[in-house]
Amino acid sequence: MSDVTRPVVAFIGLGNMGSPMAERLVTAGYHVIGSDVAEAARERLVAAGGESAESAADAVSRADLVILMLPNSAIVEAVVTGGDSEGGGVLAVARPGTLFVDMSSSEPLRTRALAETVAAGGARLIDAPVSGGVKGAVAGTLTIMVGGAEADLADAQGVLEVLGKPALVGPVGAGHALKAINNLMSAAHLWVTSEAMLTGIAFGLDPNVMLDAINTSSGRSGSTQLKWPNFIVGETYDSGFGLALMLKDMRIATGLAESLGVPHTLSDRAVEHWTTADAELGVGADHTEVARWLRQQEKENKS
Ligand code: NAD
Repeated sequence: MSDVTRPVVAFIGLGNMGSPMAERLVTAGYHVIGSDVAEAARERLVAAGGESAESAADAVSRADLVILMLPNSAIVEAVVTGGDSEGGGVLAVARPGTLFVDMSSSEPLRTRALAETVAAGGARLIDAPVSGGVKGAVAGTLTIMVGGAEADLADAQGVLEVLGKPALVGPVGAGHALKAINNLMSAAHLWVTSEAMLTGIAFGLDPNVMLDAINTSSGRSGSTQLKWPNFIVGETYDSGFGLALMLKDMRIATGLAESLGVPHTLSDRAVEHWTTADAELGVGADHTEVARWLRQQEKENKS
């Protein structure tokens, strides 16, 4: 490594999450070489003091540690092992021993397979998906669920601590499994919280009065403590986490339940509801817009 305490970091995927995360690393003194298919994303990093790579391969060939913050497993695989038009197949140019840290919310079984391919290519891979949203990415307070070898986490520890709180949760793939399970729960309670809150509002209750009471009662959750107060009551719907990404995570979790023989009937109903909202709200919808969509259903029911 170029510097034992400050490895050179290639950061691939500078979107809603990757952008503030990469900027935190720059501010902490890391040399960050960023790559993204979107030019605006690369320009944001340069404006924050980072370096924009000519391609993902260019970034990886000069790095000790590679962070991936991409939409899904298919894109992660394309970037790492090939089949991607934007300079993919970076494993071929990675230095021996390079540590790949997949912080995307990817599919655990595909992650396990990818880790084997990466190891066969002379590098290493751990999964380190996050929870805490864009606010947590900006503040460096993300929960980081790490799957992989303890020694590999030790090499990434300093970098990850700039972004949040890393904790080893099991072998490779365990982080991605846990993240998907968390988001299945988060999506299900956001939906039922929204139906319940709209029922109270229709009855004449003030949403803030309801949230104050619920947040010291048994109905509380991340949906009542964060999502409704921050993005739904004020009708901004701007959490920065896409509805399609949430649905992807729910499907990963129900797929795992199915493959492991665990009942998932209520989870399947939640996936159906989110699938309908995704189709009707269209590309680019924020996941908190499911509450707006339910509000609209209510108006249509009354007219
Ligand atoms: P995003 O869509 O905002 O960002 C993804 C970025 O990847 C985009 O900038 C896109 O241009 C880039 N990209 C796509 N294909 C690429 C390729 N082949 N090469 C290089 N760059 C490419 O998504 P996000 O909200 O930042 O989420 C990233 C990951 O983190 C997802 O897996 C998501 O599920 C997860 N996540 C998101 C949040 C959140 O609140 N937004 C929270 C936790 C986890």
